[in-house]
Amino acid sequence: MRDNGTVSLYRDDGIVLRTQKLGEADRIITVLTRRNGRVRAVGKGVRRTKSRFGARLEPFTHVDLQFYAGRSLDVITQAETVRPYGAPLSADYPRYTSGTAMLETAERFTPVEKEPAMRQFLLLVGGLRALGDEEHGPRLLLDAFLLRSLAVAGYAPAIEECAVCGTPDTADRGTGSRAFGIAAGGLTCRSCRPPGAATPSAQTVGLMGALLRGDWARADLSQPRHQAECSGLVAAYVQWHLEHSIRSLRHVEHAAGTVEHASNTVEDATSTVEDATSTVEDATSTVEDATSTVEQAAGVGRGQ
Ligand SMILES: [Zn+2]
Repeated sequence: MRDNGTVSLYRDDGIVLRTQKLGEADRIITVLTRRNGRVRAVGKGVRRTKSRFGARLEPFTHVDLQFYAGRSLDVITQAETVRPYGAPLSADYPRYTSGTAMLETAERFTPVEKEPAMRQFLLLVGGLRALGDEEHGPRLLLDAFLLRSLAVAGYAPAIEECAVCGTPDTADRGTGSRAFGIAAGGLTCRSCRPPGAATPSAQTVGLMGALLRGDWARADLSQPRHQAECSGLVAAYVQWHLEHSIRSLRHVEHAAGTVEHASNTVEDATSTVEDATSTVEDATSTVEDATSTVEQAAGVGRGQ
């Protein structure tokens, strides 16, 4: 890209998720961009008081950016504010904490840098805008953001049918109560019910569905105790799936790539990863590690 001597620049807009100090005057800025997924780039001199774009590169800010594609980290060369979502949140602590949780989970839901994540970006913009506009309660907005982020990642909790066997008959005939298994993936029928499953009320399950669908008329009318029960379940569900399903899936992909790459350095490397893995097993310790990581991660995947 830069072999012909031209400077490699690209533009994109995004939400600043996080900043970290770098050296005396710089910061590493983590941005969830519209087209390039999550990007970490250097903002040079942004910690100097006279920095022209330091103030634009603060968390919660929607910025239009120009990047220079660097050898390791890209460098931000221009920044224009599109909308500072942080300003209306700073005076309202519940809204601010919900917004902070959105920024943090948006980063965790995009574990691979520069992997396009436009739906996640649009969810974050919509969530921050709604928080600032005070359209709905901050905790409901956060739960809606989390549930839809899970859906985008392919891990929406099952609430219409049993997460294990798929039967729509999830209510206990005697009591009408339902079982919700975090690791199982949502509601379960009586025979698939895992030990330690939560037993949310029908209204709480209904609220979860309304938040997933964006049925705000229904969500806004829900009672505080059902909102609290929903929040607890959503938080536990997101936490578990970020630590297990989503992470291990990425880990499998990453480790498989490592095996494939290592195989290229081995003589008579074969074209498929399967063959390469068996060839390499007794060759280098690096590959052995990577292979066992794949097996371990695959075992975690099967466990669900
Ligand atoms: Zn079942």
